[in-house]
Amino acid sequence: MPCRVLMLKMSLLSLPRPPRPTPSSHCRTKCTRCRSLSFDGGRRTLLFMLPQLPEVIPLNVGGMGFTTRLSTLLRYEDTMLAAMFSGRHYVPTDAEGRYFIDRDGTYFGDILNFLRCGDLPPQERVKMVYKEAQYYSIGPLLDILDKMQPLTGEKVRQAFLDLMPYYKDHLERIIDIGKHRAIQRKARFAKLKVCVFKEEMPITPYECPQFNALRFERSESESKLFEHHCEVDVSFGPWEAVADVYDLLHCIVTDLSERGIAVEHQCIGVCDKHLINHYYCKRPIYEFKITWW
Ligand SMILES: [Zn+2]
Repeated sequence: MPCRVLMLKMSLLSLPRPPRPTPSSHCRTKCTRCRSLSFDGGRRTLLFMLPQLPEVIPLNVGGMGFTTRLSTLLRYEDTMLAAMFSGRHYVPTDAEGRYFIDRDGTYFGDILNFLRCGDLPPQERVKMVYKEAQYYSIGPLLDILDKMQPLTGEKVRQAFLDLMPYYKDHLERIIDIGKHRAIQRKARFAKLKVCVFKEEMPITPYECPQFNALRFERSESESKLFEHHCEVDVSFGPWEAVADVYDLLHCIVTDLSERGIAVEHQCIGVCDKHLINHYYCKRPIYEFKITWW
């Protein structure tokens, strides 16, 4: 018996392989049929079993229905959709036979409209469509959206925030401290002290403003005498840029509100810590008030 099985296997192995089609000159790179047929090895049989894709493709993207031409999905060669519908891959279908993509379909219409005729989304959808274009790897759409607002503005802003590598961590600290403080006190609000200072040495000589210029001429060892941490919850600074304290405050408030956190802030004075001789820290301190509910 084992011998007969072996013989059967041998005869299967010796079966002639289907002829390899020669791609004609017009479809050397683009014709998906030729490409799938030219696959080698054991996957050949599986590829022959993949059904031919229809010209009109019904889609189910995370439960939302769409219909488009196959040529629309294949518009740009290096995209995920072109790869999915190239005929080389198995694409699952739902109970109604629609090709299923397990992704929120909210912005898929914007993606299709771009593939159909180059239409771009309205400004309020640009950010989210960009995320989808990243997922589907649609390079030409990403290139155009990159130059649209609010993404361009975001890049300009990020160039400033890159000066503060700790920025995101400090935002998290504000949220954490605000949350724990409110829970601990069973309060609706939480207040935090946040120091925001722009200059490397924002220390000014008390009652002797003429010494102010000296702060840029101090040696490193002298500078150490002035180093200290203000008694606040979180401290941002220093940075070297045209953007000032108010610009950074704007970033903090905007980013917190994007996280759904309502925050008000007001300057409540300066740090009065005495450092050395006539020098006092004069960094501005802001009170942040987070309203949780
Ligand atoms: Zn201080």
